[in-house]
Amino acid sequence: MDNASENKPQDFIRAIVTGHVREQKFPAGIVTRFPPEPNGYLHIGHAKSICLNFGIARENQGRCNLRMDDTNPAKEEVEYVDSITGDVNWLIAGWADHCLGLKDGAPFFASDYFDRLYELAEELIKKDKAYVCDLSAEDTDAFRGAPDKPGKESPFRGRSSSESLDLFRRMKAGEFPNGARTLRARINMAAPNVWLRDPLLYRIRHVEHHHAGNKWCIYPLYDFAHCLSDYIEGITHSICTLEFEVHRPLYDWILESLDLPRPWPHQYEFARLNMTYTMMSKRRLLELVQKKNVSGWDDPRMPTISGMRRRGYPAASIREFCQRIGVGKVENTIDLSLLEFCVREDLNKTAPRVMAVLDPVKVVIENYPVGQSEELDGVNNPEDPSAGTRKVPFGRELFIEREDFREVASKDFFRLTPGREVRLRYAYFLKCESVVKDDQGNIIELRCTYDPATRGGNSPDGRKVKATIHWVSAEKAAGVEVRLYEKLFTAPDPSDVKAGGDYKDSLNPYSLKVVADAKAEPSLLAARPGAVYQFERLGYFCVDPDSASGRLVFNRTVSLKDEFAKHKVAAVQK
Ligand code: ATP
Ligand code: MG
Repeated sequence: MDNASENKPQDFIRAIVTGHVREQKFPAGIVTRFPPEPNGYLHIGHAKSICLNFGIARENQGRCNLRMDDTNPAKEEVEYVDSITGDVNWLIAGWADHCLGLKDGAPFFASDYFDRLYELAEELIKKDKAYVCDLSAEDTDAFRGAPDKPGKESPFRGRSSSESLDLFRRMKAGEFPNGARTLRARINMAAPNVWLRDPLLYRIRHVEHHHAGNKWCIYPLYDFAHCLSDYIEGITHSICTLEFEVHRPLYDWILESLDLPRPWPHQYEFARLNMTYTMMSKRRLLELVQKKNVSGWDDPRMPTISGMRRRGYPAASIREFCQRIGVGKVENTIDLSLLEFCVREDLNKTAPRVMAVLDPVKVVIENYPVGQSEELDGVNNPEDPSAGTRKVPFGRELFIEREDFREVASKDFFRLTPGREVRLRYAYFLKCESVVKDDQGNIIELRCTYDPATRGGNSPDGRKVKATIHWVSAEKAAGVEVRLYEKLFTAPDPSDVKAGGDYKDSLNPYSLKVVADAKAEPSLLAARPGAVYQFERLGYFCVDPDSASGRLVFNRTVSLKDEFAKHKVAAVQK
């Protein structure tokens, strides 16, 4: 049930559904579906569709079926079925998982309906509403015409129902090679909507199917399979993206022509998600994987749900993003920084704080007794008192961030510099006395003193410092690998082929930077893959599954602030 305080999303599709619920149009309840083709991993655009379809089911005590729309065996694979199932479950866990429609614990498959679809195709032939056509693929295309040019009838259009039935059965029996014949709906070759110009319903493909095996050598096309799969599953609202609007008359024609008992599903269309610096074509994402521009579909730079999960984006933050962008009928492009904002907002509430140093320089505290050490209390999450505290080891030798020290400080630099005091987070005031350099003049060590009276971070005499910096104990620190990510593309619209662009030209060569030996506080040694932390002052970081090999690897999920927005403002002010 909905939490009363939750903002209920509103949009034109939800308004329609609410009307249907009020009228009790579907006494058996509201049933939606999410129907991906298993030819790639799901991306953030699919997340929008998932949140809409599962959201509607959830808000109306209905159900949303996860269905593999697997009618094109050449490009589909079990790996994709598994990743899709995992990603959907992850995204809706604890939110709408009680609405997930499954069959014996597994997704629905359009290919499980092939027998039924075949029977229905025969029925169309018997009703004189479909015929077997021998035109080649090229001729079929050429005969179809264009929106401003009427199509030309196929010479096989007049074929009798009994001859078509015989040929269709022989197509099924495997008598003909790929492309030799098709089954087409007999609608109207002069229809202004080209999708009604005798569309293909079945084609011959001698290829094994990842789910149906070798049983079939003819496969239904999307338009035939989709409406009927919706019908078979009792879908009430079949929600898809705008490009299918022109297919809707065909969706309805098939249901009507078969005289199927009502209720029928109805198709509704919404505007797909486009996002800056993001490419959402599965075909192109597959290219990135195949050309090794990324480490795989779940590379943390990918806009895939798996990539975002690996990068540390909480499922709830992706759902929040989908709610904020809303659902409409007009295509637009959402700024990537909105997604990052949602991720930050979520992690700020939930991520434990820890300290890690990415570019370490050593500090030796000369007045701290040799051999002594102690443990200080670190606050786990100032946003959540119930998260408690942890022990952070402190000693004579520490690491701090190299950029937190300057030998010569400019006027606006308030951090460590010779002769100045700063606060070490949770610890003491620290003052730099001198620097040690190597033969090349590089600073290798900072000689410092501390004030034992400032334990916990405040001076009893009211002395103030202008900066607080993070640190780790040199003796106890864990060496960790940190992967820093930037945008995968440098262009706001990487796949703007209209403008003559090629996404390959805008691949960012600096999208991954590896810090091989960062230093982290030892509490992180217990960190599990998938856990996200705030490295104080640096950003949010997620334990990568590569850590399983023993050494911890972190992915930067997102920086603490929106650097991009900052730059944009700076550019405007100039
Ligand atoms: P591609 O063309 O890249 O293969 P697709 O849209 O064909 O992607 P499907 O697997 O058919 O991918 O998509 C499953 C569902 O997700 C469909 O209902 C589709 O409309 C929806 N969907 C796909 N991309 C987006 C997007 N960018 N925004 C919203 N919904 C989307
Ligand atoms: Mg598709």
